[in-house]
Amino acid sequence: MNADKKTLLVTGGSRGIGAAICRQASRAGYRVAINYVSNQDAAGALAAELESVGGEAFAVRGDVGNEADVVAMFEAVDKAFGRLDAFVNNAGIVDVKARVDEMSAERVARMMRINVVGSFLCAREAVKRMSTRQGGKGGAIVNLSSAAARLGSPGEYVDYAASKGAIDTLTVGLAREVALEGIRVNAVSPGITETDIHASGGQPERVARMQDLLPMKRAGTADEVASAVLYLLSDAASYITGAILNVSGGR
Ligand code: NAP
Repeated sequence: MNADKKTLLVTGGSRGIGAAICRQASRAGYRVAINYVSNQDAAGALAAELESVGGEAFAVRGDVGNEADVVAMFEAVDKAFGRLDAFVNNAGIVDVKARVDEMSAERVARMMRINVVGSFLCAREAVKRMSTRQGGKGGAIVNLSSAAARLGSPGEYVDYAASKGAIDTLTVGLAREVALEGIRVNAVSPGITETDIHASGGQPERVARMQDLLPMKRAGTADEVASAVLYLLSDAASYITGAILNVSGGR
């Protein structure tokens, strides 16, 4: 273990945008903790892939919507790495297509528990470790928002869009709250990006169906989103905090 190297925890790092962030971060020299909730094979295979090319990585299970899991996940990172320099609130879900007048309380509560409460709990644990006010050495946090926060996703999933609106507000508020404590907090707001999330929401054809409506006539890739995240985590972004960076091909 190289204790001089920076460390990064990515929630939902096992697949999609999170996995692209883990790969790019490992190449940039970070030791990487890869969180997952159920797909142990994907998280374990990614950790092995990063280790096989000289990186340091491990997979850590935890539901971001469960407080005990979140606390245990950060403690596992403390134990493995002994420091936390960077954190990405990436884990997120969509649900099947529905109108607001069809949504159950359970559906909306689950959306908010994972996408919003989970992001708050993880941000809390990251700040506790990074804040110079609490004996930390500072750090950087990036939250994954969505173009849905601006567009509202009518007829598709307004609950998801509203959860990402909350992420934008968390980003601005937390950034200002900890600006004097050595922590920068920013968000990346992707447009339609090619990952499994669309199939998880029952719309595997969503990228193909939507791409002609997009200004660039194509969806983004997970790597294109990850590049923006790595930039905001890096010292090159030292005067950027409270920013919401659209990575949406002009959408
Ligand atoms: P994805 O391919 O569906 O991957 C989701 C990841 O989150 C997986 O690693 C999954 O773990 C993990 N996860 C799900 N629920 C979790 C929970 N309760 N606790 C911990 N981990 C959990 O998603 P993606 O498309 O890469 O999206 C990543 C982020 O970008 C999300 O916040 C999403 O809202 C946002 N985003 C995506 C798009 C897009 O078009 N793809 C656009 C805008 C914003 P397992 O592997 O264990 O299931």
